[in-house]
Amino acid sequence: MEREKIGVFGGSFHPVHNGHLALARHAAEALGIDRVLFVIDRIPPHKTLAEGADDAERLEILRLATADDPRFEVETVELAREGTSYSVDTLRELKERYPDSELYFFMGSDMLNSFTTWRSPDEIAKLAALVCTVRGGQSGGEEETAEDLRKRYHANVILLEEVSPLSSTTVRNRIREALPITGMVPDRAAHYIYLHGCYQPAEIRAYYDRLKKELKPQRMEHTAYVLETAISLAERFGADPKKARIAALLHDCAKYLKEQQLLTYADTTPPMLPILHAPAGADYARTAYGVTDPDVLQAIRLHTTGDAGMSLLDKVIYLADMIEPSRSYEGVDEIRNASTLDEMMHLALLRSIWYIKERGNPIHPATLRALQDSGGKMERFGETQALEICKILYDKKAVDILALHIGDKTIIADWFVVASGTSVTHVRALCDELEDKAAEIGLPIRRKEGYEDARWIVLDFGFALVHLFHPEERAYYNIERLWEGDGNMIRYPISE
Ligand code: FE
Ligand code: FE
Repeated sequence: MEREKIGVFGGSFHPVHNGHLALARHAAEALGIDRVLFVIDRIPPHKTLAEGADDAERLEILRLATADDPRFEVETVELAREGTSYSVDTLRELKERYPDSELYFFMGSDMLNSFTTWRSPDEIAKLAALVCTVRGGQSGGEEETAEDLRKRYHANVILLEEVSPLSSTTVRNRIREALPITGMVPDRAAHYIYLHGCYQPAEIRAYYDRLKKELKPQRMEHTAYVLETAISLAERFGADPKKARIAALLHDCAKYLKEQQLLTYADTTPPMLPILHAPAGADYARTAYGVTDPDVLQAIRLHTTGDAGMSLLDKVIYLADMIEPSRSYEGVDEIRNASTLDEMMHLALLRSIWYIKERGNPIHPATLRALQDSGGKMERFGETQALEICKILYDKKAVDILALHIGDKTIIADWFVVASGTSVTHVRALCDELEDKAAEIGLPIRRKEGYEDARWIVLDFGFALVHLFHPEERAYYNIERLWEGDGNMIRYPISE
């Protein structure tokens, strides 16, 4: 039986990146290695923190990054050891643990060149084959060094071409500069990095410390996803990445303020509670987190409603919130795949308006302004249902039936359905009929007024207000005249 081959890949993995993983795969395939142990170095605590991730975080990032390849294992023997770790100690320990396996010790070319100065190089050469990666094309004298080590220690030295020039320093710098690391670190590991604020500058880590106390874990997850998405969008469309980072991190910072406090930001009657954490958040980011940049504060303020005249940054934050990777509603990929920022914005606004209306809630005027600004026109929401209401009334012999689309004129409803009965009794009968039949087709009535007099009954369906008139009141109030305009009126039955 062939002996198991074990790759020993030591490093600080600060953080691990796709270059490390590609090298491990390449070596495993080239040399027939069965599994690769990622031996994570111990780094003195003051140094790890200065660079922005502690041992536990560095280890977790490595675990997440290697989880998908069954050949990869994380080895913490050096992490647990006090004081300086020497490769020879680690290899000795692994040899004891796996006496029947062949060990392959991975190293960079700088390590190969200084090999003779290591502790017990001769013993290392006996314990393991030395696998050294060499930058493609350019020789740093590795071949000569390898030959020398073969002679001097009878070492088995294998030179492999380097697969990726990526370095941990590059990854850390990009994170610090708020540039995306997509494709450089596996997604799940990158998400961990953004969830915990690893490798972020001190002032950003301070925001994290406070956010972790104030947001529920699920909200923190969402925030990390918004951050990842926002810096990608910022890079793609040329928004300021550092402003995007702060706005994304703090966009939901007021999510858990008390309802009373949120209500002080209401600018509609009745108040729209779900959107109030945005204006409240802009204030809270300033007072509690000390953010003074007006661009950042505005992006936070507009992230739920949007508005006319949004800046590039405002759009990036609005969109990041809507399309971050954990969002899975119907149509989200269409928004993600749109080719320009404005096209994305347009689709996102339509989608969110639709979503709000489906729940029977009113649209904030700022959202309608944003939609108009994006050149968008809303499809008529609820047209089919409004016509179903007309049909029920028609079947009960109502007269002068019409449906008025008012959705882009007001937030009170999308439709008025107006109809008359021939007498007070008939008006009441129309109302009773509608109550029964509408419920059957899934349109419940929320409010009913004027039933006693039955000269003007109003039925509120949320998306539609139905006005049932006695002919005298109908003529007197003539509400269709107030609301009619640019082809928004459908007379029922519809004539060909
Ligand atoms: Fe929000
Ligand atoms: Fe959010």
